[in-house]
Amino acid sequence: MTLDPRRARLWTAMGLGPVWTERAEPEDASTLPRHSRIARMDWDELERSVAACTACELHRTRSRTVFGVGNRTAEWMLVGEAPGAEEDARGEPFVGQAGRLLDNMLAAVGLTRTGTSRQAVYIANVLKCRPPGNRNPQPFEVEQCDPYLKRQIELINPKLVLVMGRFAAQSLLGTDASIASLRGKVHRIEVAGRSVPVVVTYHPAYLLRNLADKAKSWADLCLARDVVAA
Ligand code: SF4
Repeated sequence: MTLDPRRARLWTAMGLGPVWTERAEPEDASTLPRHSRIARMDWDELERSVAACTACELHRTRSRTVFGVGNRTAEWMLVGEAPGAEEDARGEPFVGQAGRLLDNMLAAVGLTRTGTSRQAVYIANVLKCRPPGNRNPQPFEVEQCDPYLKRQIELINPKLVLVMGRFAAQSLLGTDASIASLRGKVHRIEVAGRSVPVVVTYHPAYLLRNLADKAKSWADLCLARDVVAA
């Protein structure tokens, strides 16, 4: 029950209590902008929201969404571009040949994609749905999907984000710089008021076609390992 504030003040002045006070109406989350609603979601809500998402045209051609996998309290978060054909079929990021190479790269620095230990990473993509024919993601698609990734980073609160491939690096860092110029240094992104270090490396699918760059990728992993250990 609420009481008119003027009358409440009068009752208080007369020493008549208790006095009812105006209560702020609870905020109706459904009236908030989409990105604000996503920014408040817990893991279950976020996963359900992605599974049902129709915010861009990619929902029409996907087999299933690819939310992300791994340790939700990970120190390392890995971010790729978008699901490919196998990921779209299985609903998991980085499967197939590129996924096996990624697993080997992780193992080389003592990391794994399974379990909940400190060594277990979390893996997600910038886009949660497969662009048809593996075409490049469109700006509108990235804009619509970005709040999901940002919320995942917030919820995980990782010590480091390792971003794989030119597209993912450019999207996350908001730049059109080449991957060659982005590698080899520690970038920072602001997530929920926290500055999160970001290291850029090649996408495993690229490394399968360009074996000579594996050594550079190893150097990137070592840099990332140093950042996490600092
Ligand atoms: Fe929604 Fe992202 Fe899928 Fe587009 S790509 S439909 S924004 S989940």
